[in-house]
Amino acid sequence: MLKNVHGDLRSRVLGLLGGEGMHPAQGGEGESLARMLGDFVHLEFTEDEAALHWERIIGNYEALSQRLSRKPSVHVAIVDYFTSEKHVLDSPLLVEVRVFRQTERLAMIDGLTGIFNRRYMDIMLKKEFNRCDRYGKCLSVCILDIDDFKNINDTRGHQFGDEVLRALSTLIKDTIREEDVVCRYGGEEFLVILPETDADGARALAERAHAALKDSPLFQTSGVTFSAGVATYPASAGDVATLVMAADRALYQAKFLGKDRIECAAPERRRYDRFNRPWSLDIYPENESTPITEVVAQNISLGGTHFECPVRYPVDTLLTIVFSSDEGDAPSIEARARISWVKKNGSTYLYGVSFLDSPETLEPKLSLTAGRAGAEA
Ligand code: GH3
Ligand code: MG
Ligand code: MG
Repeated sequence: MLKNVHGDLRSRVLGLLGGEGMHPAQGGEGESLARMLGDFVHLEFTEDEAALHWERIIGNYEALSQRLSRKPSVHVAIVDYFTSEKHVLDSPLLVEVRVFRQTERLAMIDGLTGIFNRRYMDIMLKKEFNRCDRYGKCLSVCILDIDDFKNINDTRGHQFGDEVLRALSTLIKDTIREEDVVCRYGGEEFLVILPETDADGARALAERAHAALKDSPLFQTSGVTFSAGVATYPASAGDVATLVMAADRALYQAKFLGKDRIECAAPERRRYDRFNRPWSLDIYPENESTPITEVVAQNISLGGTHFECPVRYPVDTLLTIVFSSDEGDAPSIEARARISWVKKNGSTYLYGVSFLDSPETLEPKLSLTAGRAGAEA
């Protein structure tokens, strides 16, 4: 019932924004009221809080229209509501969206190299992972680490070291595709996000950068080399954190084997396949009295799972999921999760959820249960 009210409200909000030619949010199937409000106010709201605010903002917009005998902008209705009525904002600042975006962008850039910083890397990794996961595509990451960089600093000075970092950033940027993202992961480490790229494609990228460095004046003047570790989802890992860890381990292996080389993470499919038993889920959405029972889980990893059901829930809804396996005497296990995307699929909805419990907490539970069920099978 509540969801229908929100659905209707969403259409009214989209109508209000669309009427002014605004597209602040994607407005797509899974776009939440909280996110659309967050685009204006830059505060975090739960979906229910956002629904309450939007109802009142629309009321305020209509009241202002009557008093002014003309339609105010949505911005005016929002600012007036949050400053006069709710006092949520103490001293809002008007900034042109272009200027705001530029400032936002600068906050994502590493000052020395001009490539994206670690903060942006974390955001993009999650975003690309969710996108690739949603469309059943693979995603690779490549971590490049300059060999013996401390020695380069010690023998040629920090300024020269900085120049090497800048030159190598440019070289990597020139090697990758438009859709790839290169970030400064740490001091002399770079991480390249390679969406929709399998292990062979990722290795080919690393080999290209390796060959480009050997051909470059940078190598000829400094003799600098790098080692790289490559890992791919879903072959080598089931979620973002383990993907980066797998690339890091491959990098460590490259260093161990003598540096100036590229290593790929071993496929770990079997490990994740073990979780892909016929799990049945009981799903308890937060603030809902009725659970959805006997939903079939798809693609379980330590980072999350997919499931399909006829009920529509917004993105960011918090869930408690109880997993039970029909095989053997495996005990049920419980996990907390958040809906990260939703896609309409005929008369049902397909959901992607991320677990809120850490992989370290979940792995023993899922492995133990899967192992016991597997032993019985
Ligand atoms: P390995 O081949 O095992 O990677 O050895 P390494 O010397 O490259 O690695 P180590 O971690 O021992 O040293 C990294 C060095 O990178 C130490 C640190 O001073 C230097 N570094 C980190 N950030 C910067 C920077 O912004 N500029 C310069 N010039 N040096 C930096
Ligand atoms: Mg390092
Ligand atoms: Mg190094």
